[in-house]
Amino acid sequence: MEETPSPARYETLLFDLDDCLYPGSSGLADACQLNIEAYMVENLGIDPTVVMELNARLYKCHGTSMAGLWTEGYYVDHDDFHKYVHGRLPYHLLRPDSVLRSLLQSMPQPKYIFTNADKVHAEVVLRKLGVEDLFNDVLCFESFNSRCAVAKERRQSGDEAVKLDMSVPIVCKPSVACMQEAIQVLQIDPSKTLFFDDSARNIFGGKTAGLDTVLVGSMTKCEGADYSIASIHNVKEFIPEIWAEPHFFDELRLSCKVAVETIP
Ligand SMILES: [Mg+2]
Repeated sequence: MEETPSPARYETLLFDLDDCLYPGSSGLADACQLNIEAYMVENLGIDPTVVMELNARLYKCHGTSMAGLWTEGYYVDHDDFHKYVHGRLPYHLLRPDSVLRSLLQSMPQPKYIFTNADKVHAEVVLRKLGVEDLFNDVLCFESFNSRCAVAKERRQSGDEAVKLDMSVPIVCKPSVACMQEAIQVLQIDPSKTLFFDDSARNIFGGKTAGLDTVLVGSMTKCEGADYSIASIHNVKEFIPEIWAEPHFFDELRLSCKVAVETIP
């Protein structure tokens, strides 16, 4: 039997993780920021009186705090950083989200996580939300910074002296290069891909790379946003195109109307 073609506008969905699949008010983001500042003081000897300001600047200018530290000449062991910063997060604040699960299950497209965080963090968060089985793959820090993964393997096999070349930059959102790498790795058509993120600059980067974009967490569109939704829970009412082209709904409404009108 011939398969009916999907009327959906999009072929692929990319989702940021933190403050996107769960609300920014969860408490995790605040805890993460405090952990990063504590890491900078304890491990890099940064003055506690300037650490908050420095961290904010690094994050703003370089995409992530770690990328900022790296770019500005602080040697950061990526594994230690991730373990320190994410290892002590209050994950108990995240609960299984049945609404999110139902929404994701109903979306007909392949779904991918696209996050700057490390793989372990992504796995924990997805498990806590109860949606870990609903994504085709997770693109994360290790996906775009493979030399760090190689160094980790060498350290695990006993080469404690391995150090990374600091002249090689960290690849992360919002850089367009990172967006393009994601597109290439997944072999997707950006014009038929919808990218969800809570960060305005990530949305801008995604749009520059040719993706259609959804700003999550605000009803006001930022530059480069095709859609904006206050919460991922609102996706069905504001972006029906995920399920079908708009004209499909018009035709459906029309056919329902005709059907009703022809009932004797
Ligand atoms: Mg986010």
